[in-house]
Amino acid sequence: MASVNDLSRTGAAPWAARAPAFSQPGLARPVDWATPHDLDRLRARRAREQPSKPLVPTSVASPRLGDELFARLLTYGTPQETHRGDVLFRPGDEDVDLIVVDRGSVEVIRTETAGAPAATVAAVDAGGFVGELNLLTGQNVYLLCRVREGGTVYRVSPERLRQLMASDVELSDVVFKALIARRELLQRSTAALAVEIVGTDRSAAALALRTYAARQRLIHLWFDAGTPAGRAMMESSGLTEEDLPAVVIPGATLKQATPGVLAEKLGLSYRRSSVKPVDVTIVGAGPAGLAAAVYGASEGLDTVLLDAVGTGGQAAASSRIENYFGFPFGLSGTDLTGLAVLQALKFGAQLASPCEAVRLDTDRNGGLLRLHLQGGEIIDTKAVVIATGARYRVLPLERWPDFEGAGIYYAATELEARGCTGNPVTVVGGANSAGQAALYLAGRGSDVSLVVRGPDIATEMSAYLVDRLLVHPRVTVRCRSEVTRLDGGDFLEEVTITDRAADTAQAQPCAGLFCFIGAEPATSWLTGIATGDDGFIRTDVQLAGDDLGPAWDTLGRRPLPFETSIPGVFAVGDVHSGSMKRVAAATGEGASAIASVHKAIAALLAGAVR
Ligand SMILES: Cc1cc2nc3c(=O)[nH]c(=O)nc-3n(C[C@H](O)[C@H](O)[C@H](O)COP(=O)(O)OP(=O)(O)OC[C@H]3O[C@@H](n4cnc5c(N)ncnc54)[C@H](O)[C@@H]3O)c2cc1C
Repeated sequence: MASVNDLSRTGAAPWAARAPAFSQPGLARPVDWATPHDLDRLRARRAREQPSKPLVPTSVASPRLGDELFARLLTYGTPQETHRGDVLFRPGDEDVDLIVVDRGSVEVIRTETAGAPAATVAAVDAGGFVGELNLLTGQNVYLLCRVREGGTVYRVSPERLRQLMASDVELSDVVFKALIARRELLQRSTAALAVEIVGTDRSAAALALRTYAARQRLIHLWFDAGTPAGRAMMESSGLTEEDLPAVVIPGATLKQATPGVLAEKLGLSYRRSSVKPVDVTIVGAGPAGLAAAVYGASEGLDTVLLDAVGTGGQAAASSRIENYFGFPFGLSGTDLTGLAVLQALKFGAQLASPCEAVRLDTDRNGGLLRLHLQGGEIIDTKAVVIATGARYRVLPLERWPDFEGAGIYYAATELEARGCTGNPVTVVGGANSAGQAALYLAGRGSDVSLVVRGPDIATEMSAYLVDRLLVHPRVTVRCRSEVTRLDGGDFLEEVTITDRAADTAQAQPCAGLFCFIGAEPATSWLTGIATGDDGFIRTDVQLAGDDLGPAWDTLGRRPLPFETSIPGVFAVGDVHSGSMKRVAAATGEGASAIASVHKAIAALLAGAVR
């Protein structure tokens, strides 16, 4: 097996094609690598599946910093003399520094895996810097950085990098874009072999892992266990069918892996080094929570954002949002929320997922709220923004739980739709989300039965969708109808649709049932908070005098906009009573609530001083 010093220079890297732009002295200089036999084919397939285009042009991955800008970058770091062979970081390291090369050069290496020899990912000469997006997400390092030619590097700690991002607009723009571009490039490079996920294409557990990896934009490579490449990967890693889904990372093989275990291993679970209480903790990273995080962090609040599943919320399940302000051609929910995640990270918000809040202690002992997480961790915080949205409703049918993720889906994006392409599917629901899904799936070549319980599709759906659905040759709208039976082996194969008007039932093949019948507020983890009869949380003017306990008398004020019946606790987005259940409304509420958070914290401090 080749050593890292003895790499065969075969196979062209995507960025090698741009050699002139990357080979100037002082820039990160990605080199060719030994391409594992199957990677080109896998990568080519991935490229076809890639739903979104790069967020920034990949040409900004290796910026040329002028003398003045480079000197400014050095001021954020601490100098370190280096010698050939010194290791500056290695896989598994936490809280790694941005490495700025002042003299000499360094190389970044993807270490050997069971199926592929080590490979050099980039070489960085004096004037360049080493680092990618994990500097901001907090993910552990998965590559090795070693000194090629001795000299001096400057280490910029995570804390100093956050200061740079917050205070130097010109420099942060250059560095931030480079970090994002590098992630895009690394995802398509041999570096993706550092995190390999293998499972069966239609398994619910594998789908959960892949959804998590995709939403977190993790550098990884997916292997379908049913393909020759998947079988070869399993064999080289000593994995059996019982171990699936599995993840192979440097130094560890995670069998029957879950998003939680993967996050723990990668350092993406909640961890806090500071003993100081957090200013604002936001529970739920859908559009409302993300907007609150962007505004909270950008306005100088120490901001923590948690999500039980992954970032994006319901919006990430939408293949195409057409009514979001400023995007006349629509955009996918994953793209919209992915950009918001980057924005929140840039301003210094700390994100953790999967990370579920299970209890909130509200007695304000010492002026703080205490949030309990599923893993037993606690967060002491001055304010909490509840942005937990809503959970999907299900149909009360036998075998429903068996087929969840194995033919029953609550989203219609590339990940769910892939297994159904060209096969008949059923979409259940009469609102816009169902209409969008039906059009998306029909556009991918499936014959779609849109099953609506009510008498008229136009009752709840926007006219633009109704018009398109009614003329689409692959869509059959079945009003006054319900799905009444599910059949299949390990996967859903057939549904029975009962027409209530004609009193007939018909079984038909179904590769995927996409369910969009509304949602219930995700508030089961909360107690003692005022809600409406439907369980959605009431705030500010929706609260009557009876809702407000003695704590308010002591405070001597009424609830602020978006403040719940508990002082310092705010509710925004779909979980909020009377909310519009739209992305724009959720982001507006999340952003606006931060103004109230500032006031509540100020009042808290004033109270402490009195
Ligand atoms: C398929 C689909 C298509 C849609 N299309 C459109 C559209 O085109 N236009 C439009 O305007 N709207 C659309 N919507 C609606 C829109 O997505 C929602 O209104 C919006 O996402 C609500 O945002 P939110 O942040 O309030 O809640 P959510 O998006 O529901 O996010 C809540 C988050 O909180 C997390 N959470 C829940 N409980 C906990 C806990 N205890 N601890 C930690 N985290 C927790 C969840 O995992 C989730 O990520 C669509 C919805 C769906 C499902």
